[in-house]
Amino acid sequence: MTEENAVVIAGAGPAGLACAYGLSKEKRPYILIDENPQPGGLCRTIDFQGYLFDIGGHRFLTSSPEVQALWEDMMGDELLRVKRLSRIYYRGKYFDYPLSFVDTVLKLGPLDSLLCFLSYARYKFFPYHEKDSFEGWIIHNFGKRLYNIFFKTYTEKVWAVPCKDLSSDWAVQRIMGLSLQVAIKKMLGFDVGQGPKTFAERFLYPKTGPGEFYKRLLDSARVEGSGYWPNRKVIRIRHDGNRIFSVDVKGKREADACLLKTSRLFSSMPLPEAALMFDPPAPPETQEAAKKLVFRSYLVVNIIMDKEHIFPDQWIYIHSPEVRMGRIQNYKNWSPAMVPDPGKTSLGLEYFCNAGDELWNMDDLDLIDFALKELERTGIASRKHYINGFVVRYKNAYPLYSMGYMDNVMAVKKYLDRFPNFQTMGRGGLFRYDNSDHSILTGMYAADNYTGRGRHDLWAVDLGKRYLES
Ligand SMILES: Cc1cc2nc3c(=O)[nH]c(=O)nc-3n(C[C@H](O)[C@H](O)[C@H](O)COP(=O)(O)OP(=O)(O)OC[C@H]3O[C@@H](n4cnc5c(N)ncnc54)[C@H](O)[C@@H]3O)c2cc1C
Repeated sequence: MTEENAVVIAGAGPAGLACAYGLSKEKRPYILIDENPQPGGLCRTIDFQGYLFDIGGHRFLTSSPEVQALWEDMMGDELLRVKRLSRIYYRGKYFDYPLSFVDTVLKLGPLDSLLCFLSYARYKFFPYHEKDSFEGWIIHNFGKRLYNIFFKTYTEKVWAVPCKDLSSDWAVQRIMGLSLQVAIKKMLGFDVGQGPKTFAERFLYPKTGPGEFYKRLLDSARVEGSGYWPNRKVIRIRHDGNRIFSVDVKGKREADACLLKTSRLFSSMPLPEAALMFDPPAPPETQEAAKKLVFRSYLVVNIIMDKEHIFPDQWIYIHSPEVRMGRIQNYKNWSPAMVPDPGKTSLGLEYFCNAGDELWNMDDLDLIDFALKELERTGIASRKHYINGFVVRYKNAYPLYSMGYMDNVMAVKKYLDRFPNFQTMGRGGLFRYDNSDHSILTGMYAADNYTGRGRHDLWAVDLGKRYLES
């Protein structure tokens, strides 16, 4: 292959890297392009003054033997098995998460617990009028009172839309198999099967964060004739109505811009963005459907604190409505190697937002100040320990499952299906709220489809029981 007729992979996140790796196994060269300076996409690990930060902590868990084998091959004995501790912070109290019956009853107190139980019983006998929305699904499985305490505020922080306008698909993927009944049975020692991975008590984590896995994947995927082009992005996809023949690439410097003749394009770019890059443009109805597919954005204020112990959890969900913060990560509880000095602590204060809103547009120093104030308001830590910090923003973090979103996904897919040399994959590419193992598998399968090692429908890849937690 020459750059005159390249196999192009757009996006060096888990999907793009797994695809590159799959191609390299068959000695097929490619050009891998990513707008970030570092591989790994949302799963990269960032080194800031020797402290390592994920973009939100990233656990390794999978039900796919292929993906599991890949992780183990790459990381060997550098994969830690971490015992999970994560809790919900609500009204000044910490509740176990996944919810545990005894803990919840003890912390809510007898009256609130009784009311929760009565509310649950009421919806068992008189089912809620609809179950297609997130709200309906949770009320059906937990009752309205538990929904209000444990699901509503956090979910609305994540998505900024009322829970009744969110599809139940999100609940089904996020907490499939979990209900009050299951939680009580588990507490009483009944076998609830493997249960949802929400119950997973341990997870794998590379000693120095997931970014290391993706760096190794990139190194192992090198094959003669290939190129890795960081700091560049695909901005246009040119076609003749049947096939893609080139992509336009833009870089930070003018000299990086080029038109790359393309024999095949693997894309883990966000589905709507990719569909709107087609030139000549996709039909108006496809464009309309693409514009309705929106992502929730995410930003994390990463800080170093001059304090040895702040809290023991890997992360805490902040359900309290009085702060905008959604979650806090504590990286040395993921792996001690994430901090160079055990006397200090590095935290990630996480916010869900929309690209372009006031939080997103806030200057980094103001954001750090805002986040430190919120941290103090929760009582979790005092800003007097703050040493230094930085902000990471990610625009297309969460595909929004609004009611009816799947019709729009299908409309875009129908158009893209016309192009046999185009393959979309990964979380944003398939517009699927899913974890990195799903993205990796779709990347591997995309490569297999091309090299002839397999025939897979990427849209149908489903890793079964879920452990999704935003
Ligand atoms: C806060 C948070 C926490 C998470 N926690 C976990 C977890 O604990 N465990 C887990 O397994 N998963 C977790 N996930 C999910 C995981 O991050 C994703 O499933 C995974 O990163 C998706 O991989 P991907 O390759 O499909 O997409 P991405 O990781 O988004 O990678 C896509 C890449 O494409 C690049 N790109 C986009 N547009 C262009 C363009 N036009 N040209 C060139 N490059 C482009 C981007 O720069 C990016 O590098 C979490 C997600 C979030 C938001």
